[in-house]
Amino acid sequence: MATDSSTQTETLPEIDEDDFVIITHQEANASRRPRFLNDISDYIDSVAEELWPINKKIHDRPELGYGEVIAHYTLTAYMKSQPGWTVTRSAYGMKTAWVAVYDTGRRGPCVSFNVEMDALPAIGHACGHNLIATASLAGALATAHLLSLYSLPGRVVLFGTPAEEGGGGKIRLLAAGAYKDHGVDISLISHPGTIGDCALTHTTAYIRIKVEYFGREAHAAAEPWLGVNALDALITAYNGISVLRQQTMPSDIIQGHITDGGARPNIIHAYAAGIFVVRAATQRRLEDLVGKVMGCFDAGAMATGAKVKVTRLMAYKDHVPNRLLGRSYVRYFNPLVPEEGDGGRDGDGNEAGGPHKISEDQDVDEMRGQSGASSDQGDIAHAMPSIMPGFEIPPGPGGAGPHNPGFAESAGTRLAFERSLRVAKGLAGTAVDVLTVDGLLEEVKKEWKRSMNGGR
Ligand SMILES: [Zn+2]
Ligand SMILES: [Zn+2]
Repeated sequence: MATDSSTQTETLPEIDEDDFVIITHQEANASRRPRFLNDISDYIDSVAEELWPINKKIHDRPELGYGEVIAHYTLTAYMKSQPGWTVTRSAYGMKTAWVAVYDTGRRGPCVSFNVEMDALPAIGHACGHNLIATASLAGALATAHLLSLYSLPGRVVLFGTPAEEGGGGKIRLLAAGAYKDHGVDISLISHPGTIGDCALTHTTAYIRIKVEYFGREAHAAAEPWLGVNALDALITAYNGISVLRQQTMPSDIIQGHITDGGARPNIIHAYAAGIFVVRAATQRRLEDLVGKVMGCFDAGAMATGAKVKVTRLMAYKDHVPNRLLGRSYVRYFNPLVPEEGDGGRDGDGNEAGGPHKISEDQDVDEMRGQSGASSDQGDIAHAMPSIMPGFEIPPGPGGAGPHNPGFAESAGTRLAFERSLRVAKGLAGTAVDVLTVDGLLEEVKKEWKRSMNGGR
């Protein structure tokens, strides 16, 4: 689906009799190799062999959210060894959160990168967060290297952000003021997957809700009329939600499970509980949808006489990508994509796709970047301009994508690591653009305000 602009421009002379090729302003910009690309690329290549064992260690010793102690130690030890960086371990009251700052001492923009570290229960790094860590680490180091090389003003901040998988480490960092304390202007991160490369990832808004019903026990055969059935209330709510699903939008997702379904068949169930997850394309739509789900919860209570209690457990906002940052990323990323591919093979030994050039048509790019998944980077994107480019790695055995053990296997390969370094170069290029192009940061912020108000 991605449009390859170089192929487009190559074919144009055949249809132009005067040998005069008309290209748009955008294509002209895109085909020019960005000024700092070689410096960034050479620097990241020069540290690749230092980063590989770090990437491998995080991958091979998977740790759950807020328990990323090996990753925390390994990453901060490396950053402490880097000249010019100030590192804070166990930052903002979280054992595995950390901050590394590179400050030129001269006033300029402050660019930041987020490092994810957590894995999934039983299936290891099946979301490839070791690769996210590598891309952000390499991207931040390359940006600082450029600042030093050309004596440029500004700051680079690298945040170790725990527990993306349901723990919301970035939300806790935001709430603790971590991004404000450092005067951060933009946030950069990436995410691996199996469906093509894109700059403009848009994840869904998400909320996890616990619902509990409180009824009254009674002998279910002898005196059922004395009881109030909490399980019936929950089943009524569940069925109400199943009916609601017929009238939802294609991007709405509602899932639920019963965690407490009563004690014995011969006791009227005094307590029942479940967990429900609701997702929608935007924060505004999520709020509407949650209102309808709440109506179903109330319906269960009304139908049975049980009392209902609803607890909002965790919520992630949708990730709204910043188009100007995305444009910079594509300018740096696309020239690095080899025309002949990189020889990638999937877990079954078949030739694998990618890496792919990203479409310069941003509507196409954003359509490609639509994901039903959610991330706490969404909350970051609602607080400041952000991009989270998606990058393709070969699927694991059986063609598996994220949250499958096959994907964890793929995330540990050298090829996946090398693809994450290409992403690092794109992210560093984006950061360097913000630090060096006059007026770009103001435009990025204007675009962010527009997108937060629901328009472009
Ligand atoms: Zn995940
Ligand atoms: Zn993930």
